[in-house]
Amino acid sequence: MGNVRPVIELGDGRLRQWARPVGPVEDPGLQSLIDDLLATVVLKNGVGIAAPQVASGLQLFIVASRPNPRYPQAPTMEPTAMINPRILSHSHDQVKGWEGCLSVPGLRGLVPRYRAIEVTYLDRDGQRHQQYFQDFIARIFQHEYDHLQGKVFLDRVEDPQDILTEAEYQQRFT
Ligand code: ZN
Repeated sequence: MGNVRPVIELGDGRLRQWARPVGPVEDPGLQSLIDDLLATVVLKNGVGIAAPQVASGLQLFIVASRPNPRYPQAPTMEPTAMINPRILSHSHDQVKGWEGCLSVPGLRGLVPRYRAIEVTYLDRDGQRHQQYFQDFIARIFQHEYDHLQGKVFLDRVEDPQDILTEAEYQQRFT
């Protein structure tokens, strides 16, 4: 099992850097980073986490959607490491939805995202996948993908009034 790593927060310049491509997936350091990201996202009730959030500048993230106290409505999927991911195509339409981030504690924002995307990535065994995601999973993928380019969800909020504290969000929506 992996070890929980500290998550860096908004204001730390490392969240704003572009991640670099991952080399050979067999690298033991990479494999233990994946284990640690899996352990960290579960413990912190995330539905995804990107390597830059633990100060590793690699093009890698975990999508781990499941219902938890922070996202009670999340669909369940097997936690998946996605390495050197790319968005191949996307729907024309965007939908707005509420997002939070382990690196932006205490805030939620209403963020427009493509409703559906077609993506490719390598899994932790080096197998290439091409997949179609929609709705919440597509939203997680786009949120994590942004982290690889030094972006956070607040950058995409269209109106400052679309930012709420976690407490206010819970009061309104749960
Ligand atoms: Zn995030």
